[in-house]
Amino acid sequence: MTTLDRAGLDALMEITSRPELIFVRGQGSWLEDHNGKRYLDFIQGWAVNALGHNDPAIVAALTRQSGLLMNPSPAFYNQPSIDLATRIVGASCFDRVFFANSGAEANEGAIKLARKWGQLHRKGAYKIITFDHGFHGRTLATMSASGKPGWDRKFAPQVDGFPKATLNDLDSVRALIDDQTVAVMLEPVQGEAGVIPATTEFLQALRALTRERDMLLIVDEVQTGMGRTGVLFAHQSAGIEPDIMTLGKGIGGGVPLSALCAREAVSCFEHGDQGGTYNGNPLMTAVGVAIFDTLTAPGFMASVVARGRHLSEGLLALSAKWGLGGERGEGLLRALVLDRDDGPALVEAARNRSPEGLLLNAPRGNLLRFMPALNVSADEIDTALAWLDGLLAQTRG
Ligand code: PLP
Repeated sequence: MTTLDRAGLDALMEITSRPELIFVRGQGSWLEDHNGKRYLDFIQGWAVNALGHNDPAIVAALTRQSGLLMNPSPAFYNQPSIDLATRIVGASCFDRVFFANSGAEANEGAIKLARKWGQLHRKGAYKIITFDHGFHGRTLATMSASGKPGWDRKFAPQVDGFPKATLNDLDSVRALIDDQTVAVMLEPVQGEAGVIPATTEFLQALRALTRERDMLLIVDEVQTGMGRTGVLFAHQSAGIEPDIMTLGKGIGGGVPLSALCAREAVSCFEHGDQGGTYNGNPLMTAVGVAIFDTLTAPGFMASVVARGRHLSEGLLALSAKWGLGGERGEGLLRALVLDRDDGPALVEAARNRSPEGLLLNAPRGNLLRFMPALNVSADEIDTALAWLDGLLAQTRG
């Protein structure tokens, strides 16, 4: 066992409680720590590594592009950003893409774009209805847009103009609309809240309501987009066409890349309104192209659906066996509802199991969340389920 250097660990700012281990390498669904212990990774950077760790297509894209051109400046065109934007536009109802570096930054852009549109077309309307328990990021505006309990008091004063409705309750949205309301913004599946899907009926009714009231519909697909739910973009399952969509996490598969996508009529930024040093740089967008082409290759999305079903069935079986509260989710974004608040303890026990660990996440005390790589194998799912069964036996057997 190698002892870690405490002074080295303490050089990093304390922002969360980190386990005392250092990951040194990863491959596919597996990570390895500084002691050589292996972990089956069902977190994947919080649904970020769409193709798992160090996928050869990503490594090849990074290697190729880093030998060609890394950063000419967003003030000039570069080919990978054009290629990725063209692919996104071709596969969606959106006409224009602005690339950014994180989900929060893409959402800040969406908020700015909606407010700009409100200034131009809706006499300065600026309020954006968002949802209780929603999560949109950690910048000031996106924290204000989020509905995490207590976040409205953190770092006060926060950004004004984000009244909160209740997911899947259209009347709660209707009740908040006034002449200053410019948009509604939501996650098609609330991820951090504990994998709570917006229903198809709700998404369709929201689309109709926002059209009727001359408001924009913004979908935050930072977690749900890029195949995570078994379709390229989760809102497509509901057959709706939003005005704005944001992407993050899976679009870069582990490198910092996100996107703000908008329909032509809404793409109203004027020169100087939006930008940033690294936006759309070719190193990141070349990776985005490699990921996009893998996800859209024949059969890939069908395999995500099949693996999602496999995981769902396995979780349901565990739930029935141990008297848990069932499972839910879409595609490979799933949650197991526990019968008690020992989610964090199970996460720790799973990580500490030996000789190999299992990485899980507990967004709520009574919930485990599963976000494996989209190319996870059926065997890896069975292994994770068997290990989880063993851990449940220790506490419920
Ligand atoms: N939006 C959603 C739905 C998210 O799940 C997240 C992160 O978990 C974000 C936005 C923020 O993304 P980032 O951490 O890349 O800023």
